[in-house]
Amino acid sequence: MADGTSKPGSQGKASLVTHGGRDPFSAHGFVNTPVYRGSTVLYPTLEKLKANDQKYSYGRNTNPTTDALCEAIRLLEGGAYTVLATSGLHAVTTAILAFVEAGDEILMTDSVYFPTRRFCEQVLRRMGVNTIYYDPLIGGGIADLITDKTRFVFTESPGSQTFEMQDIPAIVAAAKARDLWVLMDNTWATPIYFDALGHGVDVSIQAATKYIVGHADAMLGAITTNDRAAPLLKRASIALGNAAGSEETFLGLRGLRTLEVRLTRHQASGIEIAEWLKGRPEVSEVIHPALPGTPGHDIWKRDFTGASGLFSIVLKPVSQQALGAMLDDLKYFGMGFSWGGYESLIVPFECAKTRTATTWKREGPALRLHIGLEDVADLKADLAEGFERMNSVD
Ligand SMILES: *Cc1c(COP(=O)(O)O)cnc(C)c1O
Repeated sequence: MADGTSKPGSQGKASLVTHGGRDPFSAHGFVNTPVYRGSTVLYPTLEKLKANDQKYSYGRNTNPTTDALCEAIRLLEGGAYTVLATSGLHAVTTAILAFVEAGDEILMTDSVYFPTRRFCEQVLRRMGVNTIYYDPLIGGGIADLITDKTRFVFTESPGSQTFEMQDIPAIVAAAKARDLWVLMDNTWATPIYFDALGHGVDVSIQAATKYIVGHADAMLGAITTNDRAAPLLKRASIALGNAAGSEETFLGLRGLRTLEVRLTRHQASGIEIAEWLKGRPEVSEVIHPALPGTPGHDIWKRDFTGASGLFSIVLKPVSQQALGAMLDDLKYFGMGFSWGGYESLIVPFECAKTRTATTWKREGPALRLHIGLEDVADLKADLAEGFERMNSVD
């Protein structure tokens, strides 16, 4: 947890990720915050114990390692309060539980990360909280869905498979007019490329597993709020027994230090490969918010300061066998879930069945690509050879 009193000031984001949350001279001058492992924290006197008069009280709450990452992320988000969670999904569920009460309705984008939807259906519904799904492109039209029972609007922009760009300022304006909270899963852009709190969002959620950890070697989440939302999040996080592990937190700190420079490369390589894919005869659609002509590009340009390395393509119809011939023998692109690591990934996805407020229908198979830190020429050659294998089957 980090309760900020100092303002983030005018530092650039690369400087913030490099220096935020570090205090070398509290650790004998060593540059990195050590890994504090532990449950018990001793009190020197009965008086101190009775008054709970010291910074650390019990391992589940905070320790200097978790404090360091919370403070760095809080500064980067420009927030008042940051808490870690054991995974991105845990950050989502903790954030949601901080605000809802039995009898509430919540408004949820239809393009949301599927496990968030599953939590709403399998857990929230049993607690008497009803989730209403809305078209991610609804913008200010969200006002028509707000009722006296609505507690918050949950956003995720862009959607992590289909990349719908949400009009966050319009949604925030409609929500604020009815005194509602706005939550956002901001994993794709990270706080480096989208300033969620600066755009009026109350709660910014990071699946830190992705770009913050950045090396596919740990699960971690982070939630950052403004002043207004901080007490509710703090209460829920403590009550729920939230305790991100120190080793994972250290890996989060390690990853965070290079976040800006990694994202710069993910962005440049991602855009170059997306443009190249646009010219391939096998591809019917490239869905990348930073590409002019992609739906939502105008919103991306207006509100975001960059793009990460994740986007999708739709192929012209091909057989499963032909698709397998392409995907099975890729050299650099691995097939697997998650993203945000240094390596390139590719996975087919089907989202038509999980949607209820919108339809997503394409003729050919849809693939999501994460462009890693390899040489672009190697990645293009890998995909080109894959297309050739695909074409030789059909
Ligand atoms: C991966 C992901 C999550 C969940 O993160 P985990 O650390 O895997 O639990 C949440 N939201 C988005 C957009 C994601 O891509």
